[in-house]
Amino acid sequence: MRFTAVVFDVDGTLYPNYKMYLASIPTLLTNFGLVNALEAVRIELRKNPEPGDEFHRVQARHLARHLGVTPERAYALVESRIYTRWYKIFRSIKPFPGLVDALEAFQTAGIRLGVLSDFPIRGRLRDLGLDGWWQASLSSEETGYLKPHPESFLRIAACLGVSPQETLYVGNSYRYDVLGAKSAGMAVAHLTSKPHKHGVAEFSFEDYRLLRRFVLGAS
Ligand SMILES: [Mg+2]
Repeated sequence: MRFTAVVFDVDGTLYPNYKMYLASIPTLLTNFGLVNALEAVRIELRKNPEPGDEFHRVQARHLARHLGVTPERAYALVESRIYTRWYKIFRSIKPFPGLVDALEAFQTAGIRLGVLSDFPIRGRLRDLGLDGWWQASLSSEETGYLKPHPESFLRIAACLGVSPQETLYVGNSYRYDVLGAKSAGMAVAHLTSKPHKHGVAEFSFEDYRLLRRFVLGAS
């Protein structure tokens, strides 16, 4: 199978241990309730998207209910604790070994490269040292449909000017990445140490050298 495009998830896919980094946000104790509430809200919004309104406003309205604060306060909390503080950490995070070599090989082969994250991209690719590889990057927050909804997968394919059927999606979450990309008609490579025996991914891997071989053939 030849792919015209390869699209990557960000957290846990371009770099390891993202939960550890999220947990290491300074003053974790005061943030702990916030991180948990945010996760709960995003699970609600994955099930019942509200795409008509700006995503951060929708998220803040739901979060306010969980935290017992005003939506304005919830909005400001997420902005300062998550999107600003967490994002600062990206300057010290190293990407997975072998990732850059794989990107270089894909680029040389003429494959279009994209990124799709459930969180804003902002400066994270630059801070990870992964600037300049991508023809398109998108946060599902921009569409209002978090993964595994197919909408954002279809949108990133459109941004790249390719069909989902000629696209390989690479992600670490079975529920969100693998099932989401599949529902949009993409092939999927699952980055995991525990491959699903009867899973729907075309390929599972732990080492980017193996992904490179899967995409380009053994050369
Ligand atoms: Mg991920």
